[in-house]
Amino acid sequence: MQLTLWTYEGPPHVGAMRIATSMRDVHYVLHAPQGDTYADLLFTMIERQDRRPPVTYTTFQARDLGGSTADLVKTAVAEAYERFKPKALLVGESCTAELIQDQSGSLACGMNLPIPVIPLELPSYSKKENWGAAETFYHVVRALLADQVPPPGTPLPARAEGRRPRANLLGPTVLGFRCRDDVQEIRRLLDLLGIDVNVIAPLGASPDDIRRLPEADFNIDLYPEVSRTTASWLQRNFGMPATRAIPMGVGATRDFIAEVAQLAGIDASALLAAEQPGVAGFSSSLSRMPWYARSVDSTYLTGKRVFIFGDATHAIAAARIAKEEMGFTVVGLGTYSREFARDVRDAAKLYDVEALISDDYLEVEQAIGAAAPELVLGTQMERHIAKRLGVACAVISIPIHVQDVPARYSPVYGFEGANVIFDTWVHPLVMGLEEHLLQMFRDDFEFHDDAAASHLPAVARDARHAAAPDAVAPVEPVAAAVATPEPVIAASGEPIWSEDGERELKKIPFFVRGKAKRNTEAFAREHGLATITVETLYDAKAHYGR
Ligand code: SF4
Repeated sequence: MQLTLWTYEGPPHVGAMRIATSMRDVHYVLHAPQGDTYADLLFTMIERQDRRPPVTYTTFQARDLGGSTADLVKTAVAEAYERFKPKALLVGESCTAELIQDQSGSLACGMNLPIPVIPLELPSYSKKENWGAAETFYHVVRALLADQVPPPGTPLPARAEGRRPRANLLGPTVLGFRCRDDVQEIRRLLDLLGIDVNVIAPLGASPDDIRRLPEADFNIDLYPEVSRTTASWLQRNFGMPATRAIPMGVGATRDFIAEVAQLAGIDASALLAAEQPGVAGFSSSLSRMPWYARSVDSTYLTGKRVFIFGDATHAIAAARIAKEEMGFTVVGLGTYSREFARDVRDAAKLYDVEALISDDYLEVEQAIGAAAPELVLGTQMERHIAKRLGVACAVISIPIHVQDVPARYSPVYGFEGANVIFDTWVHPLVMGLEEHLLQMFRDDFEFHDDAAASHLPAVARDARHAAAPDAVAPVEPVAAAVATPEPVIAASGEPIWSEDGERELKKIPFFVRGKAKRNTEAFAREHGLATITVETLYDAKAHYGR
């Protein structure tokens, strides 16, 4: 048992639903209790789809448990086939159905339907949504390509003379992060390179499209959480190589172009040379982000402390952008994607931080508090955490709320994606001039520490005021935090702030005050000081500045 209030991922059958709903001509029969249809709302409200997901639920009730729930499965399968006439049928179970062990997949396979029936075994008590999506996609591809797998060791057929290289885009799904627009952006890039897109899957693909996957020369593994298992299987069985670079950020997009060009056997040097990022007066760059980040208005962004958490793919990519392209300092990096923990650990070494691998939001909250960042890049959960702690935040990964499935074009991949990222990440920060005003006129009626940034709606910045000095304090609802005075006197046994020390502490700009307070208290503890005075504050500053 684990006490859980928020969960980063749904159960694995929600991942399977994401695959079925992304595809065309596929139906999913889900053995599940009455009430599990709540998951429909993810697609019709958050993703704002204009049709119901292609899912038939058996919706068994308590009274059904006395009879044969297996018969419910057979009836649902027969009716779904008759009504929707899909070209492939997925059959699986939700958490509760897993307990009654009706073997739904085998039952459906035994019904001799004239279409492929793909049974799904998704262990709900040990795996989660992204794993469920990856496993479902893999089983769909494997089942539909089973009769095409060549003998082991057969090389991929060479590309015919004069034919443009072709690639599959693997991994985009509904309820993924900005997949809809990322796919367009990558298509545009490939077109510039003279590469055709063979199949995009699962988003928009039909079973017939899946059968055409081997007609491509290579695969682009866009969202490894969903597509790496499938890309590896296609590599092993069809000899199709797959990309590893994730085209998020300008540097990573350039690496991606180079990798794709190499797999396609083409020369990308002209495109890369024409792309002159960050050069004044040069208009050839496809992304404005490098020049924006170098322009003088961005100088105040340098060294801003950022904490990054999300799925592994977006978190790793965001950390590189933060450091190399925005000039931030990465003070925390983590993921809830346990399957990709190693990748995140490797990435964290680049920033000298210890990777946080956890799906416990309280642990994440604790880590954010301890790192005292000025900006949090995370999921919807971190948005809530950052709000409570009064820290600026932008969303970079699922899970998301409805506002992160926007109507406007908003990719995060490719060169336009870098533009979107620059605007999104800078927006929640207090602007440079205001930051200076806050430092100079801290008692101004309009520009003071407790006022929200003036370009943002008046959210209670007061939460920051309460949380920053000791950001790991137990979580309080925002309303309570607003009413709580700044806890400048530490718990018993801890060094105590003198009045002048406390006054001096308040002169430090709010966005770095939490860090200064923690450092000073650590310094006082280390030196056995019971009271923190102005001198202690400056001694600590000198000590840590060395
Ligand atoms: S079967 Fe699983 S997803 Fe459905 S209501 Fe029960 S616990 Fe939730």
